[in-house]
Amino acid sequence: MIRSADFDPTFIEEIMAEPGGEHLLTCWSCGTCSATCLVRRFDSAFNPRRVLHKAGLGLREVVLSSAEVWQCSACDACYPRCPKQIHISDVMKAIRQIAIREGYERPGVVAEVDESTCIACGLCVAACPYNAISLETVECEGGQKLAARVDSNLCMACGICNSVCLGSCIGVPGYLDEAINESIARGEQADPVMPRIVAITCNWCLHAGKDWEYAQHPPEGVKVVSVPCSGRVTPTFVTTALQAGVDGVLVVGCQEDQCHYKHGNALERGRAAMLQNLLELLGIERERAQFAWLGSLDRGKFPALVNKMVQDVQALGPLSWGK
Ligand code: SF4
Ligand code: SF4
Ligand code: SF4
Repeated sequence: MIRSADFDPTFIEEIMAEPGGEHLLTCWSCGTCSATCLVRRFDSAFNPRRVLHKAGLGLREVVLSSAEVWQCSACDACYPRCPKQIHISDVMKAIRQIAIREGYERPGVVAEVDESTCIACGLCVAACPYNAISLETVECEGGQKLAARVDSNLCMACGICNSVCLGSCIGVPGYLDEAINESIARGEQADPVMPRIVAITCNWCLHAGKDWEYAQHPPEGVKVVSVPCSGRVTPTFVTTALQAGVDGVLVVGCQEDQCHYKHGNALERGRAAMLQNLLELLGIERERAQFAWLGSLDRGKFPALVNKMVQDVQALGPLSWGK
């Protein structure tokens, strides 16, 4: 229940005074953003239209204490479709700035740095889509050194920093190299004649329940591994899998303009060509590493992608690399 005492007009003024928050009251509450939002497709509790509506009513505590303002990943899929051209992710950012000032913190995990191994090369700083990383002087092992530092209020836990760090000194707990390699590792399979396939999918690209269900219960010989973003997939995941006895690796991410983390899929596209060329140089067919990009309206395509991968690998025969 909302009481009249909950309406705080100064909250509206504060949001509109923040950079990006000035368009708050121009929202028509049409819901186009909610219909477009990638986050909402996976979490129906997140509703950007409703956040703006509550903020426009001045419901300070309701808005600031909610996890919703932290869920917008600034993918900006909604921005071109908003009839009032409201940059919703900027409004969300303005609200988050107020939340931070008032002592609220982002819920959930964020990237962590191992300062003892970080060499302050700055690769992660350049790769982070959210400018969440800076190089700072830290106290470490009895001395001072320059190392990466993550702003936990900006980090969206995409794991892209980990994918560019040569020493794996930064990463999101649960999605560190070791954990992903462990998931990729294959045990014995009942039918040794079936090709062994690993499909690595971004958490956001399987939109249909049917695709998701298939990923949870893949057919014999196929293992599905989830990562936050295709940009988290390093070429070494693929080469390690192939060396460990896998016959083919399929990487599935979001379509070009639909990355949940701004440009993670673009990063992976660049790596795809590089990886396939590397395999060829090593005398391994490039078809053993395949990449596919699913749009937000694609439904039921994942099983067909996996089937094609299985058929292609069956035609190539087993891979003897590392065996
Ligand atoms: S910017 Fe992206 S995540 Fe944020 S509300 Fe718009 S569509 Fe949703
Ligand atoms: S990429 Fe790795 S080593 Fe380089 S600054 Fe970032 S955490 Fe440190
Ligand atoms: S996990 Fe993503 S958002 Fe967080 S610091 Fe790393 S690259 Fe930036």
